[in-house]
Amino acid sequence: MNAPARFETLPRFASAQKVIESLRPSEPLYLVHPARFADAAKQFLDRFPGDTLYAVKANPHPLALQNLWDAGVRHFDTASLGEIELVKSVLPDAICHFMAPVRLAGQARAAFQKHGVTDFVVDSESELEKLLAETGGGKKLRVFVRLVAALGGALLEMSSKYGLGPAPAAKLLKKVQTSGVQPCLTFHVGSQCLSPFSYAQAVEIAQRCITQSGVEIAALDVGGGFPAHYAGQEPPPWHWYFDMIREAVSTLNRPNLNLMCEPGRALVTQGFSLVTQLVLRRDDRLYLNDGIYGSFDEQRFASFIEDYPATAITLDAKGKAKAVTGEKRPFRVFGPTCDSADVLPRPQMLPEGIANGDFILFEGMGAYTISSRSPFNGYYPDTFAIVD
Ligand SMILES: *Cc1c(COP(=O)(O)O)cnc(C)c1O
Repeated sequence: MNAPARFETLPRFASAQKVIESLRPSEPLYLVHPARFADAAKQFLDRFPGDTLYAVKANPHPLALQNLWDAGVRHFDTASLGEIELVKSVLPDAICHFMAPVRLAGQARAAFQKHGVTDFVVDSESELEKLLAETGGGKKLRVFVRLVAALGGALLEMSSKYGLGPAPAAKLLKKVQTSGVQPCLTFHVGSQCLSPFSYAQAVEIAQRCITQSGVEIAALDVGGGFPAHYAGQEPPPWHWYFDMIREAVSTLNRPNLNLMCEPGRALVTQGFSLVTQLVLRRDDRLYLNDGIYGSFDEQRFASFIEDYPATAITLDAKGKAKAVTGEKRPFRVFGPTCDSADVLPRPQMLPEGIANGDFILFEGMGAYTISSRSPFNGYYPDTFAIVD
């Protein structure tokens, strides 16, 4: 992981055009937009009826962490000791929660003893026993039983790996209570969830589990999955989700319940955009300096980004950046590595007049881009500029 990058040392510009004129970047360049981070964080902090935990895996870069902290985010949903150590190295006062139900041996102990982490997730008895053995248990610990929530509203389903149905979850919840820690529940509806109703249904499953177990839970964590606004999609506004969750949780009749959510994608997608350069054009084939092994990794799994909002920008004879004009048509977009799999799975619409050396600005590149880039074949997007 990178050393914390401080804002002060990074170049600052008023616009993407100015960045391109000034830097003419031949390497992929992430543009960081503090105002967009602040806007997304504000919506959650002002309107979600509980604590907002940022799910670090969506974008663990110190610039994302710092921007969210500056916007008021204090809680972080981490899934490994590595993520906890990273967050703490950038933000020593951050509150980390260890929300992965399967942990490597020794990681819960280190999280608890070194970093004061007291929230953990389980979906099996053996992980519960391991957790209690490593931390010593006790009332300061909150243990969340993960419920399965395969409800169909999410474009990326996440229930095939973790989570229990209400009956086995009720059994485990009882064990959690008996062990002397604070029993809690959590679920994750999947990523890019387009239906606020999925959360209400999952709360209903939580209710069934509570009733079956007879356990008074201390907290309910409704997970992540809140949708980002990608081009061509009009997901419902986040406050509809918050209202739906508030309404569903009110039926639990537990006014003192600590409510939490774990947005990843929603908090960071708009915070980064990406400037790439067209290295070579061959008819309708574009070879860029970034691809599937870099910032576009999620394209391998996710089918929901139909067509990136992309602007082609060229430098004129005076070095002024201007949009490439002309009718748009579909192009096949290849990345820089020698692997023939390094191609975007769908065509990208760009102006017919785009030429070698032009730049392409991709918007909404903050989530699951930088977090899964690899240095395969010697390419690794790792330069940044601030735009505000
Ligand atoms: C990945 C993940 C999140 C974040 O999901 P988004 O779709 O990015 O909001 C939250 N909670 C858990 C448990 C996750 O695995």
